[in-house]
Amino acid sequence: MTLTAQYHDIQNRIAAAAVESGRARADVTLIAVSKQQPEARITAMLEAGQRVFGENRVQEAKQRWTSLRAVYPDLALHLIGPLQTNKVRDAVALFDVIHTVDRESLALALAKEMQKQNRPLPCLIQVNTGLEPQKSGIAAQDLPAFHTFCRGQGLNIIGLMCIPPVGEQAALHFGFLLTLARQEGLAQLSMGMSEDFETAIAFGATMVRVGSALFGARD
Ligand SMILES: *Cc1c(COP(=O)(O)O)cnc(C)c1O
Repeated sequence: MTLTAQYHDIQNRIAAAAVESGRARADVTLIAVSKQQPEARITAMLEAGQRVFGENRVQEAKQRWTSLRAVYPDLALHLIGPLQTNKVRDAVALFDVIHTVDRESLALALAKEMQKQNRPLPCLIQVNTGLEPQKSGIAAQDLPAFHTFCRGQGLNIIGLMCIPPVGEQAALHFGFLLTLARQEGLAQLSMGMSEDFETAIAFGATMVRVGSALFGARD
């Protein structure tokens, strides 16, 4: 399949999954995860019409997207990887949505920098639903207090994000994240990747993060 065909295939699968769950197609945003993908594939995706992209590293994203931004002013860039506080300035300048707010020091740094740059970006809190020690995200039991803390700093928290543990049923984690979001009164759910985005849509995902199924295997 050409990249254009792959793009339309994923779009069709998202639309079908939305219909199947009685949801509107417009309620699900496809985030094309372009990390570690060659420039030519990204250009092809832009030409196919995709405008929302996800990256997990600030430096890599800055190098790649600064010039493309000038050509495609309607781009939206989502940071979906862990963020170190020393990269907050670049991240706030470059990205439009931050999915990985996961600790107080980061929330503080983001709030301060967004104020400084006058860029009050929408943010999501990453939840470590599988309580994996090596994975970012806060524990579900700490979510209410952390959410309150973020709001107190003036952060615009719009939803929750998770990455289910490899080898576990993703659906359990998606259902859990949906429950947490409802409890917190949050509308946005960033969940579902190449292997499981249709399941995520059935559980209410509003943003699916699809990389390899869209672009092909990464370098
Ligand atoms: C890489 C990545 C994805 C995309 O993964 P694929 O399996 O290639 O679709 C989604 N979310 C996050 C946080 C990632 O780091």
